[in-house]
Amino acid sequence: MTGGAKVTVAGAGALGLSAALALADAGCAVTVCDPHGAGLASGVAAGMLAPVFEAALDAQAAAHFDILTAARDLWPGLEARAGVTLDRSGALAVGDEAWLAGVRAALGRLGEHGIELPRRTAQALAPGLSEAFDQAILVREDWRLEPKPALAALRRAAEAAGVVFRPEPVTGVGGADWLVIATGADRGLAGVAPELGVLTPIKGQIARYGGFPGAGVSVRGEGAYAVPGEDGLAVGATMEAGATDATPNPKALAPLLKAGARLFPQLAGADHAVAVGVRAATPDGLPMAGLSWAPRVILATGARRNGWLLAPLVAQVVAACVTGAEAGPYAHRFDPRRF
Ligand SMILES: Cc1cc2nc3c(=O)[nH]c(=O)nc-3n(C[C@H](O)[C@H](O)[C@H](O)COP(=O)(O)OP(=O)(O)OC[C@H]3O[C@@H](n4cnc5c(N)ncnc54)[C@H](O)[C@@H]3O)c2cc1C
Repeated sequence: MTGGAKVTVAGAGALGLSAALALADAGCAVTVCDPHGAGLASGVAAGMLAPVFEAALDAQAAAHFDILTAARDLWPGLEARAGVTLDRSGALAVGDEAWLAGVRAALGRLGEHGIELPRRTAQALAPGLSEAFDQAILVREDWRLEPKPALAALRRAAEAAGVVFRPEPVTGVGGADWLVIATGADRGLAGVAPELGVLTPIKGQIARYGGFPGAGVSVRGEGAYAVPGEDGLAVGATMEAGATDATPNPKALAPLLKAGARLFPQLAGADHAVAVGVRAATPDGLPMAGLSWAPRVILATGARRNGWLLAPLVAQVVAACVTGAEAGPYAHRFDPRRF
């Protein structure tokens, strides 16, 4: 099928909005439906676009470094197209010598080499960083965005491209030529697309310390990351597999807060707000993006802890399903029918 198709997108998160914009740019008549108006997990995320440290520090991401890097490389195009602001100042790994040695080894396995920095230089890049660590590793290839402004920018660009938004849930394909299911961890449409049944929800809690002088680069440490943003310094994030509730859970959060305060001692006991989002994960850690076994249904979900990073690549694959354009070298690894 060529452009001009009538497409309903269920879900206005990072994946749904990116897909809607790509489809509109391909000439489709797109309607985005979401009863909540904006992405649930997408709005609370840290916004890291971090192929290098994700692959170095997360076992499941390591196997997909090529995909994570390819997705990151699509972001400058989306920055130009949608007016999303990218922070390219990089990310620091900070910790004791044994932990940093592990990070160095992991970077080496990826063919990457960070820049070794002494403490004072690292502290200049991340004000408030602990005196306890003598050494840090800077990676310039990991970027970041502010999730809420990015959602707003994507929506504005989509609206300007003719996308219509409706604050209502989708229950089926209806009168559309195609339904794109971008409902994140919500499996309510599993009756429409059975592949959604493979998704595991992973609850994530993130603590935001307003007013903390955290302007600087993102910091990766043992057991936590700390990311400066418009709402203060965000320390994230728990990975609570199987949990779907949006209620803060102090017990699960406590180790994270401790790890955050190890990086930035001023955080110990400081006031913070807790936000909760639920990620959707597939068994192999890669999204489901592409044709469902169900007719006229396309999936765009299951991006686990890298939904922002992967959004432009997922969008490219989704648009190619509708228009018949070349989907690129990674489409087969996203194919929902692999499950
Ligand atoms: C604490 C935390 C930190 C994170 N940090 C990062 C990070 O630094 N970098 C990164 O890349 N990723 C990060 N992630 C992961 C990332 O947020 C997710 O992978 C991504 O936001 C998923 O986007 P989505 O569009 O699939 O889902 P969501 O943003 O959850 O959006 C799904 C939308 O679908 C809607 N919906 C549900 N059912 C229906 C229906 N029937 N009809 C219509 N709409 C429906 C919902 O209302 C919701 O708005 C983080 C996640 C969490 C929780």
